[in-house]
Amino acid sequence: MGLDDDAREYHRQDPPGKIEISTTKPTNTQRDLSLAYSPGVAAPCEDIHEDTNRAYEYTSKGNLVGVISNGSAVLGLGDIGAQASKPVMEGKGVLFKRFADIDVFDIELDFDDPSDIVTATKAMEPTFGGINLEDIKAPDCFEIEERLREEMDIPVFHDDQHGTAIITGAGLVNAADILDKDLSDLTVTISGAGASAIATADFYVSLGVKRENITMCDSSGIITTDRVEDGDLNKYKAQFAQDRSAGDLADAMAGADVFVGLSVGGIVSPEMVQSMADNPIIFPMANPEPEIGYHEAKSARDDTVIVGTGRSDYPNQVNNVLGFPFIFRGALDVRATEINEAMKVAAARALADLARKDVPDAVVKAYGDQPLQFGPEYILPKPVDPRVMFEIAPAVAEAAMESGAARESIDLDVYREELEA
Ligand code: NAP
Ligand code: MG
Repeated sequence: MGLDDDAREYHRQDPPGKIEISTTKPTNTQRDLSLAYSPGVAAPCEDIHEDTNRAYEYTSKGNLVGVISNGSAVLGLGDIGAQASKPVMEGKGVLFKRFADIDVFDIELDFDDPSDIVTATKAMEPTFGGINLEDIKAPDCFEIEERLREEMDIPVFHDDQHGTAIITGAGLVNAADILDKDLSDLTVTISGAGASAIATADFYVSLGVKRENITMCDSSGIITTDRVEDGDLNKYKAQFAQDRSAGDLADAMAGADVFVGLSVGGIVSPEMVQSMADNPIIFPMANPEPEIGYHEAKSARDDTVIVGTGRSDYPNQVNNVLGFPFIFRGALDVRATEINEAMKVAAARALADLARKDVPDAVVKAYGDQPLQFGPEYILPKPVDPRVMFEIAPAVAEAAMESGAARESIDLDVYREELEA
């Protein structure tokens, strides 16, 4: 109750909301104003008319991300609609600004039909350097992102899908390494077949997990080829169908090396954890209540278990803020045309590598002096660690240049120094 009322007051304080616009050039004199607006402004307009890339030189496009939602899958609140989603989208803008100094226009679209969202978003390409789709329900979110990625020449990134995939991907790489497991041998059971689960499964394949070693469950149980034949599944779920007999989540978890929960809280029992392979990796990430609690999962077994949840009050928090601000930072700084698989993999690997390095004292202090040392209780860096930006943004920029997604080539050493300055 205390938190709810504090949050209402926080948002209501004058001026209402969390974001305002400020100017970046002198606006004091008549001369300043005639440069900012008519007649002076015509000169940069003409240059951009000749070469649209010059928009990056003369406008805020290159540091401006559109956070776009229709409010159809907001946090754990469900389909609350565009207007009610605005505090969340402003909040996303706050995170972009606070962590990576990226400006955001939050755009809440009162549309249900994916085609309308595609048309509206595509038409805003001149405004933005990138698009962060947010809190749009599955399976619409897949179609919308796919079409926009095809039709737009700026990055389009649905954070609920790929942010989660990248952060848990980094966690998976490190957990597997600590437990001496090879990604190509891992058997992975995923609870959930929605926005975050499908993207996570796809991304694990990019990291080296075998698609045939992934078993996915939705609210009706294991996704099997029989269910595909029954016409019961959308095409995104169907890609993960297993040729096996019907079963539930408990059947799917028996013997698995990895459990990934992106479904609903409280559906995994200690017995289900006990049925997994030796030294399992367990990421129950339903919010606010995970599929199984951190301590419950740990204490279900005597061997070393690595557990990560979405919660900040336990070790190994899978927090999307470790990804999107810095992935966009790197993408914008090379004026990228997209955020492709190579850039996502680079972000995950950079995050995984950073967790292996010694943590600065200031970061340890911020977390109440818990020992932050690479191991089962520390597989991911902490969001307040400033090195996250210095490592992820250049890794993404480099991958963009190498994969042909960058409009602009930059010197990475100089770039790193600029970020750290
Ligand atoms: P979503 O698109 O609505 O997907 C939810 C999925 O869960 C659906 O596929 C649904 O099955 C499935 N499901 C529901 N009940 C189930 C059950 N009893 N057993 C197995 N599967 C069940 O939601 P989302 O955006 O992917 O998010 C899912 C959860 O993950 C949420 O709790 C969210 O907060 C959490 N999450 C956490 C993080 C993080 O911690 N960093 C990031 C992203 C998401 P049907 O398809 O049959 O309906
Ligand atoms: Mg979201």
